[in-house]
Amino acid sequence: MAKKVTKIGVLTSGGDAPGMNAAIRAVVRTGLYHGLEMFGIMRGYQGMIDDDIVRMETKSVANIIQRGGTVLKTARCKEFFEYEGRQQAYDNLKDRGIDGLVIIGGDGSFRGAVQFSSEFDIPCIGLAGTIDKDIYGTDFTIGFDTAVNTAVEAIDKVRDTMDAHDRIFIIEVMGRDAGYIALHSGIATGAENILIPERKTDINDIVTSLQEKERRKKLVNLIVVAEGDEFGGADVVYKVLKEKLPLAEIRVCILGHIQRGGSPSCLDRLIASRMGYHAVECLLEGRHNVFVGIMNNKMHYIPLENAVKNKAKISEEWLRIVKILAS
Ligand code: ADP
Repeated sequence: MAKKVTKIGVLTSGGDAPGMNAAIRAVVRTGLYHGLEMFGIMRGYQGMIDDDIVRMETKSVANIIQRGGTVLKTARCKEFFEYEGRQQAYDNLKDRGIDGLVIIGGDGSFRGAVQFSSEFDIPCIGLAGTIDKDIYGTDFTIGFDTAVNTAVEAIDKVRDTMDAHDRIFIIEVMGRDAGYIALHSGIATGAENILIPERKTDINDIVTSLQEKERRKKLVNLIVVAEGDEFGGADVVYKVLKEKLPLAEIRVCILGHIQRGGSPSCLDRLIASRMGYHAVECLLEGRHNVFVGIMNNKMHYIPLENAVKNKAKISEEWLRIVKILAS
């Protein structure tokens, strides 16, 4: 029988995502409801190493559900890659009596949790907080819905001006390793081409279709490209197209960090609240080293190790839909 947790630390780590605050709030309030002592660990694993840890009460998480970013701050922490760093983090947690951790972050943060929990006896529960939606074993990640809606809103605006001038626009969205934001925002805005890391880009196909449009004097075209597309980001695509279509008016728009910020959508607040609640329930039930996922509207507890070994795949169905609808 696992020892009952009494003190839980919560942290946000790696890339920030809208909805992290809603998740922190849910974790803290659920823990307090059960009579646990709750702690906020500042700047992800860095705060664990620096012992930058604060008590969290109901009031500490008041008025944050609607705010983007994270009140606990986030960071990438080099020292946590080293055993000595993790040992220091463990000693600090032990000194404070913290006997359970909730880690809100992406696959990198989960990798850190897998490493930490293989060496030390503090159970870790992960919550998938990433705008990239690339976590295996869950239909939702906290932040994706907001980020993709931000992208859609921006692309719609660009489309208006693109249409007014008959231009080609190449819009770069976030996604270094994953094409979900590009795929979803591209489909939702009726993009003619969507370039994602998961699928090889045949630039010649795009050039041929644009040349055909040029002949018909209808050279207006929206291309959405993920920053990590294997062919390259928007600037590379621009160079190639400009070379082949020197007379065409081509513009590049890189959406960048606006996709990370802003008030979380209703969906992100809901899934963050639900996952945060279940993270604490998990610790109380004696689960350890899993992350809380939602599949087919049911909660699933997936070993963190599985989450980091596998990658969420974009379905063939979506790729087929893109091809047919953009033609
Ligand atoms: P994300 O969680 O958004 O994917 P990162 O990949 O930057 O972000 O990871 C966040 C942090 O997790 C890293 O800065 C590091 O502190 C920790 N981490 C990632 N991988 C490992 C690992 N293999 N061992 C220990 N810590 C790791």
